Amino acid sequence: MNKERIKILLIDDDEDDYVLTRDLLSEVKGRDYNLEWIANYDDALRAVCSDNYDVCLFDYRLGARTGLELLHETVAAGSKVPIILLTGQGDHDVDMEAMKAGAADYLNKKGINTQMLERSIRYAIKHKEAEKRILHMAYYDDLTGLPNRALFHDRLQQSLAHSERYKGNSAILFLDLDNFKRINDTLNHSVGDLLLKAVAERLSKYIRIADTVARQGVKASSNTVARLGGDEFTVLLTEINSLQDAAKVAQRILNSLSVPFRLDGHEVFVSGSIGIAVYPFDGEDMDSLLRNADTAMYHAKNQGKNNFQFYKQSMNATAFERLTMENDLRKAVERNELILYYQPKMDIRTGKIIAVEALLRWNHPDKGLLAPAEFISLAEETGLIIPIGEWVLKTACNQNKVWQRPGSGFTRIAVSVNLSGQQFKQEGVVKVIEKVLHDSLLGPEYLELEITESVIMKNAEIIITMFHNLKNMGVQLSMDDFGTGYSSFSYLKRFPLDIIKIDRSFIKDISEKNEDAAIVKAIIAMAHTLKLRVVAEGVETEQQLELLRKLGCDEMQGYLLSTPLPADEIPEFLVKHGKKTV
Ligand code: C2E
Ligand code: CA
Ligand code: CA
Repeated sequence: MNKERIKILLIDDDEDDYVLTRDLLSEVKGRDYNLEWIANYDDALRAVCSDNYDVCLFDYRLGARTGLELLHETVAAGSKVPIILLTGQGDHDVDMEAMKAGAADYLNKKGINTQMLERSIRYAIKHKEAEKRILHMAYYDDLTGLPNRALFHDRLQQSLAHSERYKGNSAILFLDLDNFKRINDTLNHSVGDLLLKAVAERLSKYIRIADTVARQGVKASSNTVARLGGDEFTVLLTEINSLQDAAKVAQRILNSLSVPFRLDGHEVFVSGSIGIAVYPFDGEDMDSLLRNADTAMYHAKNQGKNNFQFYKQSMNATAFERLTMENDLRKAVERNELILYYQPKMDIRTGKIIAVEALLRWNHPDKGLLAPAEFISLAEETGLIIPIGEWVLKTACNQNKVWQRPGSGFTRIAVSVNLSGQQFKQEGVVKVIEKVLHDSLLGPEYLELEITESVIMKNAEIIITMFHNLKNMGVQLSMDDFGTGYSSFSYLKRFPLDIIKIDRSFIKDISEKNEDAAIVKAIIAMAHTLKLRVVAEGVETEQQLELLRKLGCDEMQGYLLSTPLPADEIPEFLVKHGKKTV
């Protein structure tokens, strides 16, 4: 055996025994033993299971407990470290029980000598190593070193149990290399083997990277790549958040395969077909999931290879669509494809335009002008809302500053900006807003921030603090879509708001439905007691406006006044509505 350092942990409540063991081991020639000692039963289990030791020695007597109990606990905790039990007297029953419980050996301390102890340790370690090798052979693929079918089944089983318990989703990707047989036959089998190895390496590397860059989704540790045999590989993704997570991994795997392999002097091009089955939609047990992933893989082959397919066809369209949209959206900011439209807001009593609301549009290269409903939720899921939201703030403030330029002749109006809940989860959002105001030189009283009632309710505690900070900066705060988030009157008092916007759904039927008129009336009364201004949004008819005026509503917005307009049409609109003072 080599002269490496062997780390031993002794669990013994008697210091004399520790000294004795240490002395015995110090007499061993040609091997370096490093003995650590723990006296306390309660500290022992964690140390034993820490994977830091090559072998552990348990004394039978451990205060009120026994080494046998500790042995049982250690095995139950899944530790694989070899354990030798030491006792004060020879006792055949304890001996038997220790071996049954999984001890590597059993030694009587009476009459123990260096040679016995050393030999026992050496055998225990050797035996464990052999066991590990056998286990490895049973669970890993010889050629690639990846988990084999048996281990994949184990992991899958665990993952499904977990998904079932926590109502989560897992996905199986079934990868089959395209035309592997041809490569194998033309370049001979040793190159084929090299290719399988190289593919295995890329897959594992990719899964490791995917783990570290995974946003919220695909949780690292338990994802598994396995080789089922031949040129068939499987990837288990545990805890995916959406179909996109699975689609994305599949696409990246295909991308990673598209880089040619250099094998034994040959440049080898390969591609793959991937079938995806998602728990629980495509099967609730292991066999049906694997079968369906396999079926989906054949479908991918039929689709011309080098692609992935979900088992359920309906999932393909959504997944592809979202995946492309996500890629497009990532580029949208840098390519200047995002634009703001501005929808005017009027004071009902005076008829004056007092503000415009910035509303996001995406000028998509193929799809044309897209409304936020078509991409905001995607932006939120992918975290892209953070840079996009910042861009909106900056653009709206700069734009408003341009309209306020001396010599433009317009009386000043405010601009309102919608903020997503994601933005409020960012620590730095208040700082960002402060910086934007600072850089744009826009007076804070000319910026309104709109946050929906439901977002406010969901994050009440953080938002109260942030609102106070924003309030101190002098910006106006508005609760958007009011009436849809079930906030109570008393609750509302806790937020330092300036404005509430009654959701469009209440305005829609206000002149036909008495209940809706009654609700709007109550909201206005309540808001006024709290000294809040009330905005009605989605006002489309004169009747609605008339009724709102009667109910004492302060401001209105809606197609009746104007649809959202591109920035360059706002000056003309302002002129028409008497905002030009020179
Ligand atoms: P919102 O904040 O409630 O904006 C009002 C929506 O109602 C706008 O839709 C507007 O075009 C539409 N609208 C205005 N007047 C009328 C009307 O009289 N009748 C009808 N039927 N609709 C009217 P848009 O622009 O499609 O925006 C939809 C939502 O997307 C917004 O609802 C807002 O929640 C979100 N959004 C827009 N821009 C941004 C943004 O920059 N950031 C964030 N986080 N969300 C945004
Ligand atoms: Ca709004
Ligand atoms: Ca709204």
